[in-house]
Amino acid sequence: MGNEIACQSCDLLVSVAATKHGESASCPRCGCFLTKRHDDALRRVLAFASIGLMFLVFASSYPFLSLSSSGVESAITLIQAPFALWSKGMPEVAVLVTAFIIVIPATVLMMMLTLCILINRGRYHSSLLPLAKGIFMGQKWSMVEVFLIAVIVAMVKIAAMATVTIGISFWAYAAFAICFTLATSNLDRYQCWQKIELLAIK
Ligand SMILES: [Zn+2]
Repeated sequence: MGNEIACQSCDLLVSVAATKHGESASCPRCGCFLTKRHDDALRRVLAFASIGLMFLVFASSYPFLSLSSSGVESAITLIQAPFALWSKGMPEVAVLVTAFIIVIPATVLMMMLTLCILINRGRYHSSLLPLAKGIFMGQKWSMVEVFLIAVIVAMVKIAAMATVTIGISFWAYAAFAICFTLATSNLDRYQCWQKIELLAIK
C-alpha cells in the first residue's frame, strides 16, 4: 500500500509515510494541504457526530425564533420554517433549505457514525467505500454555517420592525453546526481511505 498522495493542485506525488500524530503534510511545491494525521480521529468523529445528531434532534423540537410586534407574537420551529416557505409559494426554496440545513448534514453525520463503527470492528465491509464517498460528497452540500449566518443577518434586519427573541433551538442548532464542523474536519480524506484500504487487504 502506497504512502504517497498526489497533490490536488499540482499533481506532485508526495510521501506522507513519516507523518506523525498531530502533524499535517503540505505539498512542498505549491503548499497545498494534503493530510493531517490523528491516531484517535475516528473516536473524535464518532463523538462529534453522535453529539451533533443529538443537538439536531433538540434543535428540531423547540422554538427557533419568536417575533413580536404590536402585541402580536409568533414563534417558529426549525421544522416549520420550510413549511412556511412552501405556504408562501416557494416550494423549490423550501425543499432546498430542508435538504441543505437538515437532511444532508444529518445524513452525513449518520454515515460518519456507521463508517466509524464499521472501521472500529476491524473487518472490511462492502459498504465502507460508498459510505466514505457519500460523506465526502455530502460535506460539500451541507450549508449549516451559511444558514446560521443568514439567520443572524435576517434577525438584525427584522429587529428594526419587531422584537426578535432567540429560542433554545437556535443555540442547539449552533452547537450542532460546531459539532458538524468538528466531525468533518477530523475525518481526514487520505487517512480515511488508508484505513479502508488496510481493512480491504487484511
Ligand atoms: Zn502541489
